[in-house]
Amino acid sequence: MTRAVKSGHVHLLLFCLLLFCVRASHGETAGVTVLDQRVRVNPAQLALLEDASGTLSYEQVVSAWRQGQFDATQSKPLNRGVTASVYWARLTVLNPGPTARGLVLSHDYAPTDDVRLFTGPGPGDVQVAGDSTALPSGSWRSRVAAFELELPAASSQVVYLRVATASNLNLELSLWPPAQFQRHEQLVGLFYGLLFGGVAVTVLYLVFAAQLAREPNALLLAAYLTSYGLYLAFLNGFPGLWLPNALVGYINSLHLASIGLLFGFGAMFYRRYLLLAAHNRRADRLVGVLQWLAFAVIASPVLPASLLATILALVTGIGPLFTISFAFYLWYRRRPHAAVFALGWTIAHLGSMLGTLRVSGYLPNSDLLLHLPAVGCAVAFACFTGSIAHRLSVERVYAYTDFLTGLANRRLFSIQGEMEYDRARRYGHPLSLVLLDVDHFKQVNDTWGHAFGDRVLRRLAEHCQSESRTSDLVVRLGGEEFAILLVETPINEASKIAERLRLAQMKDALEGREITVSLGISELLPDDRGIEDMLQRADAAMYRAKEAGRNRIELQADATGLPQA
Ligand code: GH3
Ligand code: MG
Ligand code: MG
Repeated sequence: MTRAVKSGHVHLLLFCLLLFCVRASHGETAGVTVLDQRVRVNPAQLALLEDASGTLSYEQVVSAWRQGQFDATQSKPLNRGVTASVYWARLTVLNPGPTARGLVLSHDYAPTDDVRLFTGPGPGDVQVAGDSTALPSGSWRSRVAAFELELPAASSQVVYLRVATASNLNLELSLWPPAQFQRHEQLVGLFYGLLFGGVAVTVLYLVFAAQLAREPNALLLAAYLTSYGLYLAFLNGFPGLWLPNALVGYINSLHLASIGLLFGFGAMFYRRYLLLAAHNRRADRLVGVLQWLAFAVIASPVLPASLLATILALVTGIGPLFTISFAFYLWYRRRPHAAVFALGWTIAHLGSMLGTLRVSGYLPNSDLLLHLPAVGCAVAFACFTGSIAHRLSVERVYAYTDFLTGLANRRLFSIQGEMEYDRARRYGHPLSLVLLDVDHFKQVNDTWGHAFGDRVLRRLAEHCQSESRTSDLVVRLGGEEFAILLVETPINEASKIAERLRLAQMKDALEGREITVSLGISELLPDDRGIEDMLQRADAAMYRAKEAGRNRIELQADATGLPQA
């Protein structure tokens, strides 16, 4: 535990360092990114006016500008974190060229609730956008708040922008040629389309894995991944684009609910996957508390704002810091699966932690920070899903393999044997089965010990494999009984192989002790109903070999010795 705490400190330190670097490079100013070379913005930075009560009218704001009440010194960070305030920005767009230009002015932080653009002289010239704002009919919808501007040749246009939101209040504007804006949006749409498609396919796979292989981790991961997908959809403004006006009022609550689900299911998955209760009860209880705090975020509409902010800071900031550190600690202690988990978990949460800092106003609203959670989501879930798939495939191998010899077991023989039987029947191909039992194996064990008996069995398994082809199925049916299903092989061929095997076993004489085997062989007959019929005849033949003195081969009673037609 102390080591975990220490490694937590290291993370905190690294995190602060990163924070410092980003902040130092970002500075306190931000303005308008002008992507159309033929227009200019004046002043280059935004002039801002805070409207703490949110009551100022457009006319009041215009006269505030005239009275010099705007702050044009760029001393304020444009990312104000989660704040109840309203901001007004003023800028002048210049088109010095000889032709008129259409432009798109976008406010690039998608979850912003309500953005209004006043191009007036009069207050009637207003365009409305925002992910939680019901738009007037006929206005165009886009993922981020975006407005169309028309600038005649050699003209300038003063615009005022009013930004209000219940979440992260910031101003990050871009001026685009309309075609470029559309291309950019198509690209973002394509990226998230692929991501959501991947999420959907992975969730389906995980649900099936949970159902078919009874893997509860897979179901939790599916829930976690679904909520991550929802969170990313809200973060990038897609629900605002898709939902009808009647529902946009719920977007903020749903966005918060997706965060609650994401961190709640994340904590549940964390506890289950790492078997946290078994490793460290205190850590398990702590993550359990974080889990229920996260789920409490779903009730955001009825929670007091300060309580909600505290819970969010705990769940999305401190929580990942602790869980990441502890995952690395478990990796350091060589807990099974901790390595891949620690990496996946870190990647999944790095984006969300940086996002928390961005939302709190500590980090700028850069494209990288906005899309980092999406990249993290994809990479981390590939890690988690891959590790669950690997676990399931290993379990599958165990379920169908004999532990002592590494051969197929009786279960696989039933499944694959039946398939080979069907195939041989359908195409009229020959199929033979050799059954083999060690002679007096009880005595072998009694005389030379069980460990020696095990070595005999392993050696015999090797002989069975080396005398058959890779397309044949070599099985340990149980105890000292083996079977080889020989595809495309008539019984006379099978008896040659069986004889080679019998001789190889006799000659082997492990530690100078001769151990023999008795073999019974059957082949597919027209009246057979399945592989079990062949097995019964081979078994009967094998018992005749035992009765006739052991260390010999017997064919099924009604063998023709000829391949099936
Ligand atoms: P027979 O020649 O008639 O086949 O006589 P047998 O002694 O081989 O036959 P029996 O079926 O009486 O004894 C089989 C023995 O195989 C009994 C059991 O202890 C032993 N056996 C079964 N599985 C294993 C194993 O995994 N390892 C070892 N060492 N012995 C095993
Ligand atoms: Mg035996
Ligand atoms: Mg036996």
